[in-house]
Amino acid sequence: MAMKKYAIIGHPVGHSLSPPMHNAAFAEIGLAAEYRAFDVAPDELSSFMDGPGKTLDGFNITVPHKGAITRYLDEIDERAAVAGSVNTVKRHRDRLKGFSTDGYGLEKAIEEAFGLNVASKAFLLLGAGGAARAAAFHLLTSSASAVLIVNRTLGKAKALVEELGKNFPDAHAEAVSASDREALAVVAERADVLVQSTSLGLREDDPSPFPKELLRPTLPVFEMIYKKTRLLEDAEKADAPAANGVGMLVHQGAKAFEIWTGENAPVETMRRVVETALEGVK
Ligand code: NAP
Repeated sequence: MAMKKYAIIGHPVGHSLSPPMHNAAFAEIGLAAEYRAFDVAPDELSSFMDGPGKTLDGFNITVPHKGAITRYLDEIDERAAVAGSVNTVKRHRDRLKGFSTDGYGLEKAIEEAFGLNVASKAFLLLGAGGAARAAAFHLLTSSASAVLIVNRTLGKAKALVEELGKNFPDAHAEAVSASDREALAVVAERADVLVQSTSLGLREDDPSPFPKELLRPTLPVFEMIYKKTRLLEDAEKADAPAANGVGMLVHQGAKAFEIWTGENAPVETMRRVVETALEGVK
C-alpha cells in the first residue's frame, strides 16, 4: 500500500509537537504513513494548496490559517462551520472536508483532569483569541450553561459574546475587562471551571493573567499552555485542581487521527511522546 501523507500547516510551525506525536501513533498501529510540518506564510497558502497540499491525505491547520483554509474546502463539519475555525482536514478522493477537534480536545482533557462533565457548567475563559473562540463555541455546543469571557481588550471579548449570543440564544455569555477587578471577582465566584486561553505564560517571566486571591479549591484551573505557568503555580498554592495543556493537545490530535484513519488512537503513546519532547526543551 502507498505511504499515506499527513502534515501540519502553520506559520511558525517549527516547534510543533504534532509530527513526533502522530508519527509515533502511526508506528504503534502499524500504518505506513508519515506526518511532517510545513511552514506556510499567509501569502503562500494558495500556492501551497495548489502544490504540495494536493499530495496530502490529511492535515492539521494551525495559526494563522484556521479561518483562511475554509475557502479551499469542499465541505465543513457542522461544529467547525459554526465556530468558523478548522484545524483538521481529510481528503476523500478529490474532496477536502474540514473539522475542528480543538474543542473536543479541551472537553476531553477537562473530563480527564477534573472528572467533570462540561454540560450545565459555567466557564470563565481568559482570552478572546482563536483558542478562546474555539473553546467557547464548543463548550456551548456541549451544553455548558455559561461562558464568561475575560480579556485585556474588552472590545474583542464583546464581539465574541455577540456572535455567541446569535448562535446560542439560550446560553449565557458575558464579556469582562481583565482590568476590572470587581467584575472579575463576580465572574470568578459564578464559575465552575477556569480556562486559561491567552498567550500570557508562554514566556518564562510572564505574570499570571488572573489575580491569585480569586483562586479557590472549588475552581479547577485548566491552562492551555503546556508548561507550568505562574497561574498553575498560584492554583497549586490555592489548593485548586489544575492541569496544563498537554491533555488538550493529545486529545485534539487523537480525534484528528481517528478522522483520518478510522482507527482508535493510541492516546497513551501520543501523550508519552509529547511529555518526553517537552522534557527535552526544559
Ligand atoms: P491569539 O488568537 O493570538 O489570542 C491571544 C490572546 O491572548 C488574546 O486574548 C490576547 O488579548 C491575549 N494576550 C496576549 N498577550 C497578552 C498580554 N500580554 N496580556 C494579556 N492578554 C494577552 O492566540 P490563540 O491562538 O488564541 O492562542 C492562545 C494560547 O492558547 C496560546 O498560548 C496557545 O499556545 C494556546 N493553545 C493551546 C492549545 C492546546 O492544544 N493546548 C491549542 C490552541 C492554543 P488581546 O485580545 O487583548 O490581544
